[in-house]
Amino acid sequence: MRVLVYGAGQLAQMMYLAGAPLGIEVEAVNVTTDTVVHPVSKLPLDLSLDQAIEAADVLTVEFEHVPERLLEQADKSEKLLPSMEAILVGADRVREKQLLEKLDIPNCAHRIVSHLDQLDECIDALGDQLIIKASRDGYDGYGQWRLTDAAHLPKLKQQLDGLDLELVPLVVEQMQNFDRELSLIGVRSKSGDIKVYPLTENLHHLGQLHVSIAPAPAVSQELQQQAEDIFNRLAQGMDYTGVLAVEMFQCKDTLLVNELAPRVHNSGHWTTTGSDTSQFENHLRAVVGLPLGDTQALSPSAMINIIGCGTFSRDLLSIEGCHLHWYGKSVRDKRKMGHINLTAATYAQLGQKMQQLVNYVPEDAFPKLAGEAQKLSSYK
Ligand code: ATP
Ligand code: MG
Repeated sequence: MRVLVYGAGQLAQMMYLAGAPLGIEVEAVNVTTDTVVHPVSKLPLDLSLDQAIEAADVLTVEFEHVPERLLEQADKSEKLLPSMEAILVGADRVREKQLLEKLDIPNCAHRIVSHLDQLDECIDALGDQLIIKASRDGYDGYGQWRLTDAAHLPKLKQQLDGLDLELVPLVVEQMQNFDRELSLIGVRSKSGDIKVYPLTENLHHLGQLHVSIAPAPAVSQELQQQAEDIFNRLAQGMDYTGVLAVEMFQCKDTLLVNELAPRVHNSGHWTTTGSDTSQFENHLRAVVGLPLGDTQALSPSAMINIIGCGTFSRDLLSIEGCHLHWYGKSVRDKRKMGHINLTAATYAQLGQKMQQLVNYVPEDAFPKLAGEAQKLSSYK
């Protein structure tokens, strides 16, 4: 079996690593140069994009912002999974909100804005605590602005002045005072079987994911069920094949959907060491038509992103249950360089291991680590 992945970053790399034991050959497309590359070395392979499409059994994506001309070409081959419509939902916040509304799935109160004057109406309707998101090409908090006071509106309008909002409208959301952020990663097979991982708790800093804990502590059966119902409606509603990630805010007993990612997701990286079948393997199994693997968590897990930092001691591997995944990229500010997975028998032990990890990494690059370690260590 051959799978061609659009995007040649760490997610394609991890799909490659998951595919090898199954005899699934994974190749990647560098979407800025239209070249076909090896997902780990990133070196060009000796075949054109057309040839790679022809030779592949399945085409899939590691990110949703694939240029539309490439997506259309992929779609024409009739080998693209998930579908182009599902990928575009993830790439365009306007389509995403339309889908959530159509399926009656709770999400943040919002307005679509294609002219700056409409921002005044947004304040009337939603209040003056707003988060403003470009409807396309945003990630890791890029393409977002915040309003915390109506008096700052003129300044905000100035900042947004250069944007072509008719072409790329803004989605203006009410700022949510949520209790925490959770995500549900699940997978749907071609024949409609669905399996979901337990809810994962996600800790963000400056709009970027830093730490995930799975299964999310203190999740009632009702809350997990609520998340699964949302997942089922979305996956069935899109006739989805593959791994789908649903980012949510927990507000007391209610989940609000924030975003969808039509692909494997950073908050699912713990599954390579903390579950029976990783999200990468399950995505490949789904798109090539193999039976799905078990999604149970085997033990409490933490995933810690290494962001904008290349200097830390590899001796952190002396912590039991600690695994490093380094993406092999050059260091840049805010860039995801790799991640660390930790597993432990209990949440308290997981917290203790996170506390050990604090000794091996620079504090400023890991602002969420020590606090979360302390919190988990206090668990019975
Ligand atoms: P990602 O890296 O997940 O692709 P993104 O840049 O696409 O991120 P969002 O997930 O929409 O954007 O927002 C990033 C973070 O900003 C969220 O995880 C959350 O912490 C915060 N955020 C987004 N929307 C809201 C909101 N309506 N109210 C409060 N906080 C929000
Ligand atoms: Mg997000």
